[in-house]
Amino acid sequence: MVEYVRALHPNPEQDGMADDIPDEKVPGCGDTVLLEYDEAPPVEEGDVFRDSCPSCKRHDARLEVVEIRAE
Ligand SMILES: [Zn+2]
Repeated sequence: MVEYVRALHPNPEQDGMADDIPDEKVPGCGDTVLLEYDEAPPVEEGDVFRDSCPSCKRHDARLEVVEIRAE
């Protein structure tokens, strides 16, 4: 069984953002991406976790779980 995690790499409004924003506030690409796991994923819906973003290739991207699906 393969499990999929649909996650959002958020892209917040950049108005008023300073150059020294903390790493976790760095805006992402705004895409929703699909990550594939061979076993139960280590996250639940609503979790925020770090993984490489398949869309913008950013390593250690801050992703928000939208949906977990098993097929
Ligand atoms: Zn991204």
